[in-house]
Amino acid sequence: MNNLREWDNEHVWHPFAPMQAYREEGAPIIAEGEGFDLIDTDGNRYLDGISALWCNIHGHRVPEIDTAVRQQLDKIAHTTLLGMSSPPSIELARRLVEKTPAGLNKVFYSDSGSTSVEAALKIAYQYHHQKPGGPEQRNLFVCLDHAYHGDTVGSVSVGGINLFHQVYGDLLFETLRVPSPVAYRVPEGHTRESYLQHCRDEVVRVLDEYADRISAFVIEPLVQGAAGILVHPEGYLKFVREETTKRNILMVADEVAVGFGRTGTMFACEQENVQPDFLCLAKGITGGYLPVAATLTTDEIYEAFLGEPHEGKTFFHGHTYTGNPLGCAAGIASLELFEQNRVLENVAETSALLTERLREVADHPHVGEIRQQGLMVGIELVQDREGAIPFDSKLRMGHQVTLEARKQGLILRPLGDVVVLMPAPAMPAERIHELCDKAFAAIEEAVSS
Ligand SMILES: *Cc1c(COP(=O)(O)O)cnc(C)c1O
Repeated sequence: MNNLREWDNEHVWHPFAPMQAYREEGAPIIAEGEGFDLIDTDGNRYLDGISALWCNIHGHRVPEIDTAVRQQLDKIAHTTLLGMSSPPSIELARRLVEKTPAGLNKVFYSDSGSTSVEAALKIAYQYHHQKPGGPEQRNLFVCLDHAYHGDTVGSVSVGGINLFHQVYGDLLFETLRVPSPVAYRVPEGHTRESYLQHCRDEVVRVLDEYADRISAFVIEPLVQGAAGILVHPEGYLKFVREETTKRNILMVADEVAVGFGRTGTMFACEQENVQPDFLCLAKGITGGYLPVAATLTTDEIYEAFLGEPHEGKTFFHGHTYTGNPLGCAAGIASLELFEQNRVLENVAETSALLTERLREVADHPHVGEIRQQGLMVGIELVQDREGAIPFDSKLRMGHQVTLEARKQGLILRPLGDVVVLMPAPAMPAERIHELCDKAFAAIEEAVSS
């Protein structure tokens, strides 16, 4: 046991982690979970303030999900969906179709958020080649500045976070970028209102100019998560749907982060009554238990892939562990718990509680802006509130807050200098209070030292 830290430093390359700093600091090694707590190998207990990186829904070691996975394990752990099927993958597909916005009737499984987006992009592209009245050569995707859709090369192509994506520039396919309609630091010459109008005008301009070359418009509905919890103005999603529909352009809704209750409704698209052509789901789909993802689409798109095998209309794409039975069993159990435990009602209550508690730090001299949508919260730390002047990036202020939070018994992970609070949808009110108490104390410690 004592060698774990050494072996971790010796052998494990951690994702999205500056490894030199990681190895110097000695992060917790989590050995167990219990409810909303994480317990490390030294026996320290932490509240999980980020839902195990935005995927946990009902807590850890939930008896109903544990049992569902164990029962499936007694049958079979894995076979394949290539040319065959399995009961849990069928059952989960049926339930996802029931719960998601109308019109999405077909489920294509994969195993991560990135691959769910990757599948949507390839299906959209191929659809235009095979659709009735086609073929059409549409090889452009529209995406937003600061978008995050995953880390595979295709999903990076539609991404817009320079820190993550710029280095791969030469490898990526061409996209059309529109500005993100979020206005904390409004560009020169704009007011908040004029900037939002400019963002809408840009959507119209780009769609008009390239209408017959665009394969799909890719968007994170309501909240751009990895960009720093950027909350879109009300109506923007609906606007994008209307403008794309008018021009017969497909829309990919990436609900990998916002899906499964995190924004207040089961899916974010519901809040603006939007029916996308593709819905990408991952993170919360198994309650945060196992790697399963799904790309949902319409009958119309699916039907363009039908034909005699020799016609070559097949979607030649899929991963070995696609639709894994253990993961799908966890997914079914998670959806049942949403009903049984009235999770969405809890989200309504705890989101309101968060809004209330966040007022305590709203006027803090080092808090530039607080953004919240349901249980997704971003607290943007700045050196100077008046001028929205950021901290020197060498200070890694967001990271300092994380280190302080650990001392308080809270696990956080920031996005730059944005402190992210992402409690699980089933977390009860008293733990939300604890999350706020500890997070606010950690912010105070970090900015004043
Ligand atoms: C996390 C995330 C992804 C990528 O999911 P992975 O499972 O990490 O591949 C894609 N889109 C959004 C919006 C995300 O938040």
